[in-house]
Amino acid sequence: MYKNALKGGIRTAKQAWKLKNELGKLQLDLAKANSDFEQHLCEAGRYIQSCYLPATTTQKPLLLLKTPGDNKSSSSSKHDCNIVANHYLRTPVVNPLVQLPPKRAADKTTINTHFRAESGHLNALISSKQFVKVQKQFYRDYSCVSLGAPLKSSDAPLLGDLCSQYRAILAHTSADVVSGQDIHHPGCNYQQTRRAHQQQSQPLSKEQEQLEQERKMAQKAKFERLPTNVVPKHYELLLQPNLQEFTFKGKTIVQVNVKEPTTQITLNALDIVIDAVELHYECSKLKPEKIVYSAENETATLEFDQEIPAETQGVLHMSFTGELNDKMKGFYRSKYFGPNGEERYAGVTQFEATDARRCFPCWDEPAIKATFDITLVVPKDRVALSNMPVVKEDSLPDDLRRVRFDRTPIMSTYLVAVVVGEYDYVEGKSDDGVLVRVFTPVGKREQGTFALEVATKVLPYYKDYFNIAYPLPKMDLIAISDFSAGAMENWGLVTYRETFVLVDPKNTSLMRKQSIALTVGHEIAHQWFGNLVTMEWWTHLWLNEGYASFVEFLCVHHLFPEYDIWTQFVTDMYTRALELDSLKNSHPIEVPVGHPSEIDEIFDEISYNKGASVIRMLHDYIGEDDFRKGMNLYLTRHQYGNTCTEDLWAALQEASSKNVGEVMTSWTQHKGFPVVSVESEQTSKNQRLLRLKQCKFTADGSPADENCLWVVPISVSTSKNPTGIAKTFLLDKPSMEVTLENVDEGDWIKINPGTVGYYRTRYSNKMLEQLMPAVEKMELPPLDRLGLIDDMFAMVQAGHANTAEVLELVDSYRNETNYTVWTAITNSLTNLHILISHTDLMDDFHRFGRNLYEPVAYRLGWEPRDGENHLDTLLRSLVLTRLVSFRSNEIIGEAKNRFRSHVSGTNPLPADLRTTCYKAVLQDGDEQIFEEMLNLYRATDLHEEQDRISRALGCCGDVKLLRRVIDFAMSGEVRAQDAVFVIVAVAINPKGRDMAWEFFKENNKQLLERYQGGFLLSRLIKYLIENFASEEKAKEVEEFFQVNQIPGCERTVSQAVETIRLNAAWLQRDRAQLALFLRDDE
Ligand SMILES: [Zn+2]
Repeated sequence: MYKNALKGGIRTAKQAWKLKNELGKLQLDLAKANSDFEQHLCEAGRYIQSCYLPATTTQKPLLLLKTPGDNKSSSSSKHDCNIVANHYLRTPVVNPLVQLPPKRAADKTTINTHFRAESGHLNALISSKQFVKVQKQFYRDYSCVSLGAPLKSSDAPLLGDLCSQYRAILAHTSADVVSGQDIHHPGCNYQQTRRAHQQQSQPLSKEQEQLEQERKMAQKAKFERLPTNVVPKHYELLLQPNLQEFTFKGKTIVQVNVKEPTTQITLNALDIVIDAVELHYECSKLKPEKIVYSAENETATLEFDQEIPAETQGVLHMSFTGELNDKMKGFYRSKYFGPNGEERYAGVTQFEATDARRCFPCWDEPAIKATFDITLVVPKDRVALSNMPVVKEDSLPDDLRRVRFDRTPIMSTYLVAVVVGEYDYVEGKSDDGVLVRVFTPVGKREQGTFALEVATKVLPYYKDYFNIAYPLPKMDLIAISDFSAGAMENWGLVTYRETFVLVDPKNTSLMRKQSIALTVGHEIAHQWFGNLVTMEWWTHLWLNEGYASFVEFLCVHHLFPEYDIWTQFVTDMYTRALELDSLKNSHPIEVPVGHPSEIDEIFDEISYNKGASVIRMLHDYIGEDDFRKGMNLYLTRHQYGNTCTEDLWAALQEASSKNVGEVMTSWTQHKGFPVVSVESEQTSKNQRLLRLKQCKFTADGSPADENCLWVVPISVSTSKNPTGIAKTFLLDKPSMEVTLENVDEGDWIKINPGTVGYYRTRYSNKMLEQLMPAVEKMELPPLDRLGLIDDMFAMVQAGHANTAEVLELVDSYRNETNYTVWTAITNSLTNLHILISHTDLMDDFHRFGRNLYEPVAYRLGWEPRDGENHLDTLLRSLVLTRLVSFRSNEIIGEAKNRFRSHVSGTNPLPADLRTTCYKAVLQDGDEQIFEEMLNLYRATDLHEEQDRISRALGCCGDVKLLRRVIDFAMSGEVRAQDAVFVIVAVAINPKGRDMAWEFFKENNKQLLERYQGGFLLSRLIKYLIENFASEEKAKEVEEFFQVNQIPGCERTVSQAVETIRLNAAWLQRDRAQLALFLRDDE
C-alpha cells in the first residue's frame, strides 16, 4: 500500500500543477456567464455609490437616525443618499425566520461616526480566534522583562487575543472617531447595538427585550451545518475594493449541482448585502422571490417560487456589496503610512475560520471544496495578489486595472485570499522551481530576506519529507500592518503580522528571528497539512494546528540545527500545554463545535501545544520511519479531500503496525493528563522492580473531578546508558509492576527520558535522591534535567512536595550549561519570586539567585565570542537579565555603562542585550532615566523596539515613577494594543503591585469606559490581583468587586481570588522551611 502510494506521488511542482488542472477541470458551460462577467467588469469604471435601495421596503424604519455632519470629501448627493438610506435602518432582528432588511454599504463619514456605538466591537472581537503565535512571542518577550513574575502560560492566550482586540479599538479612537457624534452604525449587528445601548446605561426597550429573548432562544437552537442539497463546484469571483470609501463590491458566478429538487438555496453570508441573484439552468433564468438572511446562523436563503429539479447543473449569479471593515476579519482595511506620513489603507482578507462569508456569499465550510477563478479590480498603482499567479491584466478607465488570477486547485473557502496595497518585495526560487516572494512595506524590502531564505529552503524540505511536491506554482509571503493573528496559511499567499516575518538585522533579537523561522515553517507546513488535506470540520482543527506546530520544529531543526530547537520545544510547547491542561477549565483536544463562536474558542494552546505534544509522543512511539511513511500515506490518500482524526490514526497504524488509534484516543478525547507515580525496589543483585500508578494530575493537588485512564507509552533509562532507552511499555491500567534487568543497587532510573511522554512523573524520595547527583554531574541529558525540575515544581505547587526540597534540587543545577534547562528553571523560580515578595526573605532569595546564576554568567561574559553557539547568545540575555533582578552589583554596573555607550551612539547595544540593560538602568533609575527612556521610545519606529522599551518601564523601582508609567500607558502615546502590557508590567512588579491595585480601584469606572468590554478589563484585573497572597487581600478583593460589579469579569475575579488563596496556602505551608533553607545558604 505504502509503495503504491509512493509511486503515485508527485515529484515536481509543475507536474503537480498539471495534474491538478486535469483533475480540477470542470465541465463548465460558462461561456455565456463569462461574457456577462466581462461586461460587468467593463462597467467597473467607477466605484459604486455608497447607497442602495433596500430589496424590500415593506418594513417601516424603526430608528430614524441623525444624519452625520457633512464632510469635506462627501458630495451633497452622497449626503442625500445618507438621509435616504438612514430611513431604512433598523435594529436587525436575529430570529432566523424573520427577513432582515439589507444593510447599506456606508460611506466613510457614516462609518466613522459609528464607531462609538460600535465600541462593542471589542466584544465582537473577544470571540475571535486566540492566536497562539502571538501569545508565544509575547510570553517570550515578557518573561525576559518581568521583575518577579512571568505571565503564566495559561494566561498567554488571553493576552495575545487581547492585544489584537485592543489594536482594533485604538484604530477607531485615534483615527476614525468623530467625537460628539453618536449614531448607530447601519452595519452594526444586533449584538453590537445591544451592547452600545447597555454601555449608555439606557434601559432596553420592550422591543429590544423581546429581541434579546429571541436571540437567547436562537442561541439555544441547535446549530446546523449547511444543507447538502445544493453544492458548489466552481466560483468565478470578482472583488473591487474602494480603499477611500472603505466599501467593496463583488460579483460571483457559481457552478452548482442541485442534488435534490428544491425551492431554496441556503449558503453563508454575513455583513454583506446580496444585491441581485439569478439562477441559470438549461433554458431557465430564475430570480429568487426573496432572500432571507439569518444573522444568527450567518446564512442567506434564496427562496424561489418554483422547484429546481434534481440533478440540475446550474449557474448562480450573485452581485453583492460590503464594508471594507476594520475588524481584521473578512475583507478588511489595514492602515499604513505613505512617504509623507499620510494614512493609507490596504485591502486584505482573513477568512479562517468562518469569515469568507463576510466577503462573498459562499458555502463556507471546510469540507465544501471548490475551485476559484479570482479577479480583482484595483487602482492602477497598487499591488494585487491572490492565491494563484496573475494570468491577465487589463487597464480600465479611471485609473483602474483588472487583474485575473489563474484557477486554484480544489480548496476550502477559508483559504482563499486577496491583498491590494502598496508593497515592495524580494524574490527567489526554491530548488524545485517554485517562485517565492516576500512582500514588505515600501522601503523595507531587505527586511524580507530572512523569511525568503527560510521559505525557499522549506519548500523542498517538505517536498522530500511528505514526498509530495508543493501543489501551486508560487508562494507569496506578505507582511500586513493590521493583522490580528500571527500568520495565516492561505494557499499560495501567506499573510503575516509584521513582527512575524520582517527581520531588521540591526534591531531584531535572535529570539524573534527564531520565532520567525518557526512561523514560516508552520505556515508552509499547512500548505500540505490543512490546505491539501483539510479537516472535515472544526472539531478536528487540532489536526491542522497540532500537526503544523509539531512540523515547524522538524523543519527549523533541519534548517538551523544550531538552534537545538527540539529541546526548546519542551519549554515552548510542552510544559506550557501541561500547565494549562492541569486546570479544571481545560478541554479535550477534540471538542465538538458548531456555531462560529464556539469554533473561535478552540484556537488555543490545547489545540496547538497539546496537539503538537501528543503528536511528538506518537512520533516517538512509532519511530521516525514509520511516521514518515504514515504521513505520506495519509496525505496521498486524502489529497484535495477532507479528513477526521481517525484517518490520520489509520494511516499511521497501517504504516507502523502499532495500535495507534487505541493509544491516541485517550489523549485526544480526555482533558488533562496523568501523573505517573513511581517507586522502585531492588529485588536481586541486578534486578529492579518498578511500581507505577497513574491518576489525573490537578494544578491544586485536589482529587480529580473525573476518573480517566490513559494509555501511556512509558520509556525508562538508567545510569548504565543515560542516553539510551532501557525499556518501553504501555501503562494502560491504573497501576502495574515492571521488572528492569541489569540495574544495580546504586543505579538511578529515569522515567520519560527525553521528556516526550505527555505526563508528569512523581518519584519516590529514594529514586529522586539517586537522580540528583546525575543532574549535578550532568550525566542526565538536558531534556531529562529539564523534565525533572519542571515536574518537581509542578509537585510543589500542587502541595505534593516542599519548596525547600525543590530548591535543593535546583542547587544541583548550578553547573548547568543548557539554555533550555535554564529557561525551565527561570520560569519556575519567577513563580516562586512572587511568593517570596510577600516575605522578608527577598534579600536571601536574591543571594540564592546570584549564587545560582553567577557561574554561568562568568562563563558567558558580555561579549559574544566568535562563532558562538546560538543558544549561548540566548542564554546570555536570560542569565544577565536574571542577575539584574537578583541585584548583582557587578552586572548592574556593567549594564549601566553599556547603556550609556548605547545612548551616546559610541557602542550600540545588540538587540539581544537591550532588555537586560534597559532593566538595569530603570530598576534603580530616577526621573531623568525615565525621561531618557521615553525619548528612546519616541525615537524609534520599529515596533519590536517600542515593545521592548515600554515593557521594561514596568521594572522601575520607584512607585512614583511606576505611577507615571501607568499614565504613559494611558496617554494614547503607546498604541492601545501595547498599552495593556505596560500596565501589566507594572502590576506584576512587586513594587508596583499595591499602587496598581489602588490605581485600579480609583479609576475602575474610567477603565471600564476605556476598555469597554469585560474581556480586556478582566485580564487586567487578573494580573492586578492574583499575585497577592493573603486571606486579608482575598477578602478585600472580594468585597471590592461585590460593590463594584464589572460585567463579564465575575469568573476572572473568583478565579483570581482562588489563586490568592492558593498562594496564601503555599506560603503558609512552606514558609518556615523556605526561610531555613535560604538562610542556611548564606
Ligand atoms: Zn497554524
